Amino acid sequence: MPRVLLLLPTTTYRSGAFLEAAKGLGVEVVVASERPNVFQEAQPGRYLSLDFFNPDKAARQAIDFAATRPIDAIVGIDDATTVLAAALSAALSLPHNSVASTAASRDKHQMRDLLSRDGVPVPSYVLRSLDDDPVREARRMVYPCVVKPLMLSASRGVIRADDEGQFVGAVRRLEAILCTPDAAALGDIARQVLIEAFVPGREVALEGLLVRGELHVLALFDKPDPLDGPFFEETIYVTPSRLPAAVQAEIASCAARAARALGLQDGPVHAELRVGSRGPSVIEVAARSIGGLCSRTLRFGTGLSLEELILRHALGIGIPSLERERRAAGVMMIPIPRAGVLKEVRGQAESRSVSGIEEIAITAHPGEDLVPLPEGARYLGFIFARAESPERVEAALREAHRRLEFIVMPPREARGTG
Ligand code: ADP
Repeated sequence: MPRVLLLLPTTTYRSGAFLEAAKGLGVEVVVASERPNVFQEAQPGRYLSLDFFNPDKAARQAIDFAATRPIDAIVGIDDATTVLAAALSAALSLPHNSVASTAASRDKHQMRDLLSRDGVPVPSYVLRSLDDDPVREARRMVYPCVVKPLMLSASRGVIRADDEGQFVGAVRRLEAILCTPDAAALGDIARQVLIEAFVPGREVALEGLLVRGELHVLALFDKPDPLDGPFFEETIYVTPSRLPAAVQAEIASCAARAARALGLQDGPVHAELRVGSRGPSVIEVAARSIGGLCSRTLRFGTGLSLEELILRHALGIGIPSLERERRAAGVMMIPIPRAGVLKEVRGQAESRSVSGIEEIAITAHPGEDLVPLPEGARYLGFIFARAESPERVEAALREAHRRLEFIVMPPREARGTG
């Protein structure tokens, strides 16, 4: 039975989907996470705690483990583990993307440098330090621009500025985010700020699988809500895209060139692009699959999940089809209505009864602090729909969302009442 080491950060939404896919495939899973798992003592061969922040140490731990239980593939799940998966694969001589290519895809500045050097269209950009005087820098910027951190995810800390005053405010707000312990743990990179030209236009997300350097497009998602800032909260994703076929082909070729410029060769790719009057521009290319629970929108061939495709590819098990099902599908990442403490979400049955709606998954727990962007990075939940056309999917998602009522208590009052 093949054995796969899954790097599952404790914060990931994706554990269930990957474990289920592995079970369906008859693959043995070893779960590696950054903290010891409660089941580790009972089943030492199935769990491994690794120092996610120290690749050399983690590599030694993985080599020790593999000496008695050989590993056939290593799969990193979220942004936080793509580089480590490459480093551990190299240590165990398993085929994988190079460490350098995954590291470049995690560092927004390095990514910009590599893409622009290869002529892949990207917004113009400059790198600044939090130690620079933002008031002086503000005078040199061209507006509108986007201020962003180099290594966070889910649009956390990404802020648009239209003038000097907004620029200074954005940098200060980002600095506060970068000083929080989880961001500061990233080291020197958390003192740097990337400033980019704001690219107007429609945004799309491309889900792909690289097989020996060739990009196979698994799905292209339209994002029908305008993402014009000042913060960039993801909401609706719908596939197939309604863009003209020629534009979709241009997007695919742009994403393939971007993956090549980074040196990515194998495994999942999630790319975000903006399509303006001058064609597509790459916002980012990540060496991982789509985040949150969004992969539930995707089914391939006779019903394979995205996770099963990824595991099959990593283990060299044949993939019967990379063709997505014909029906349109979509997801709404439920926006956080306001900061506070979630009390309850009403109207779920009414929302679920909308034609085309498959599932409402509220992932925030009652009592959980809801932190909107740009500081937060978690979703309130997800709404899933499938229908004959992308228009119907979008309409179903909007109607289902309209029927939900979010009871959010102000933070202090909620704590006062326990
Ligand atoms: P993250 O990796 O945290 O998601 P991104 O760099 O992908 O950060 O930015 C998040 C979102 O912010 C993008 O999906 C896009 O909507 C918006 N965005 C980022 N950079 C730009 C830009 N230069 N122009 C326009 N929108 C941008």
